[in-house]
Amino acid sequence: MLNISCLPALSDNYIWMLDNGSDALVVDPGEAVPVLAEIERRRLQLTAILLTHHHGDHVDGVPALTARDDVDVYGPTGSAATIPGVTCEVGDGAELELLGQRFEVIAVPGHTLDHIAYYGAQAGAGGALFCGDTLFSAGCGRLFEGTAVQMHASLQRLAALPDATAVCCAHEYTSSNLAFAVSVEPDNEVLARHRAACRVLRAADQPTLPTTLGLERQINPFLRCAVPTVVAKALAQGCVGDTELAVFTRLRLMKDGFQMLT
Ligand code: ZN
Ligand code: FE
Repeated sequence: MLNISCLPALSDNYIWMLDNGSDALVVDPGEAVPVLAEIERRRLQLTAILLTHHHGDHVDGVPALTARDDVDVYGPTGSAATIPGVTCEVGDGAELELLGQRFEVIAVPGHTLDHIAYYGAQAGAGGALFCGDTLFSAGCGRLFEGTAVQMHASLQRLAALPDATAVCCAHEYTSSNLAFAVSVEPDNEVLARHRAACRVLRAADQPTLPTTLGLERQINPFLRCAVPTVVAKALAQGCVGDTELAVFTRLRLMKDGFQMLT
């Protein structure tokens, strides 16, 4: 089993690190300093970098990390030409062997067109998903390049993974996502309890992540587009039709305009 840790970076990013006690990989290093400090502190060897998409807050640390060590840098198909440092392009269905474990690449377009996620069934206790800016706790990524159709399909693929999967998101957006989720489902008790627990964590400056897919299925409105109360809320807010896709599309628009009051 691999250890999973998260390194806070920039204003609200997390760089996820996996290690086996001697070698380590990191996902989406938006800056190098927190990674260098951690591998120094724990005397680890950085052997690989996994990139989920091309945004600067996920890739800008790559050059400083590859200048130092011999590191394999995995990125989406086409990224060798666009993201400095990428040595290995990987697309949907690719299987990687990293730190002695198997990882699978899942294409998840929506936030960007090139977005991919990495899933390791043996990483952490119940498997781990590194989903960048696609799935957040109680939320999902904004649609910068892709369509609602794409993002909805991407989230459905991620939601098909096992309940115990540790969901390692690239941002600490949980508080604002939970505020929106509660506005959609004011009577969801699991959601209310989780929000209270996250308030305690954030007050102590602790991450609310990783979350699990099992929990997200209970609290994340974007994974709950078939739940009658969520459908009713979307319809009341102008949703045309009650298909899961229509509800998802309306929720994403509602979230874009949502102002957190607390
Ligand atoms: Zn992004
Ligand atoms: Fe980001």
